[in-house]
Amino acid sequence: LVERMRPFGTTIFSEMSALAVRTGAINLGQGFPDTDGPAEMLDAAARALREGANQYPPLPGIPALRQAIAAHDQRFWGLTRDPDSEIVVTAGATEAVAAAILALCEPGDEVVCFEPYYDSYAASIALAGAVRRPVTLRPGHGGRYAFDEGELRAAFGPRTRMVLLNSPHNPTGKVFTRAELDLIAALCQTHETYAVTDEVYEHLVFTDAAEPHVPLASLPGMRERTLRISSAGKTFSCTGWKIGWATGPAPLVSALTRVKQFLTFVNAGPLQPAVAVALGLPDDYFTGFRAGLQARRDRLVTGLAEAGFDVLPSEGTYFVTADITRSGGTDGVDFCRALPERCGVVAVPTQVFYDHQEAGRHLIRFAFCKREEVIDEAAKRLAKLA
Ligand code: PMP
Ligand code: GLN
Repeated sequence: LVERMRPFGTTIFSEMSALAVRTGAINLGQGFPDTDGPAEMLDAAARALREGANQYPPLPGIPALRQAIAAHDQRFWGLTRDPDSEIVVTAGATEAVAAAILALCEPGDEVVCFEPYYDSYAASIALAGAVRRPVTLRPGHGGRYAFDEGELRAAFGPRTRMVLLNSPHNPTGKVFTRAELDLIAALCQTHETYAVTDEVYEHLVFTDAAEPHVPLASLPGMRERTLRISSAGKTFSCTGWKIGWATGPAPLVSALTRVKQFLTFVNAGPLQPAVAVALGLPDDYFTGFRAGLQARRDRLVTGLAEAGFDVLPSEGTYFVTADITRSGGTDGVDFCRALPERCGVVAVPTQVFYDHQEAGRHLIRFAFCKREEVIDEAAKRLAKLA
């Protein structure tokens, strides 16, 4: 194994899902729903399979999907995209993030990101020979995760090539505020950097969030320097399909596509028309999906609080984080490894998503994208800890 990949072991999601299978515990670790997405989408996939959409689709994705992505981004975010030059379909958001970094970063270039970060970011930055400059999110006022402005300013320098921003944010459930985005946008412009945004949870901002989701690309001066990434997995409960996309100005999409063509070339022919159908579903689907997740968040948060955890506010995503200190824990990794034996539930330590691990040592993440009866059973088991 090459030197630059040696620090990366098995992902924590695989480790914890394997632990859940081995112990028969309820898996609130890896974030995947335990119910299927919209019937219209599943029917469209079955039709496409039967009707022969089984050969290589075009490199940027089938036209119907690119048109649906353009219409979706216009409908929800007022972003105008040319389906022929400003959109590329990828193997999930994961490939889009990797291809964006590989396409834009020379060895030694720096990528500003926020920790805890989604685990593939660090590996993709390392694959490119680039250097990550993490800015720490810490629970502040009311438990809301925030970063220090000075720390963010200090992270930018002459080698900064891009900022990699995930909002709504996994694992914290933080939705970056307009003021925070304005600061990030100003720094990108002052330092003439790109922005790559991971917005796979764009439809999962709860009604009690302090502010709505705003794509960084929609801020003044940002369209021309931003690649906006999303994916069908979370919005349509099909994480195993791995259909994602990147949108942005033609030169950036073209650069990303140049790399993408040699990573996977194209992706999942019969699933592309189905995702096009899903993206065109009426607003009711999206609001109903969000309301369902919000109700399950509330159920889990109540259970966690009764089990003795200090629960931090989650404004969006599939996830909520909790402080284990009051539950007698000091180290999240040890705590999560022991949790299935103690009470039959799996969670994920967020410490592994930090460079400055001490900042997250006492924090763990629970996924609430599960059926209500599963959440209730998990809560019952966790109550044994109290
Ligand atoms: N980014 C974030 C923040 C995620 O939580 C995930 C997991 N869904 C991904 C990217 C990966 O998305 P995909 O499965 O579409 O590659
Ligand atoms: N995005 C999912 C999570 O955060 C997991 C994806 C994966 O297993 N790589 O739980």
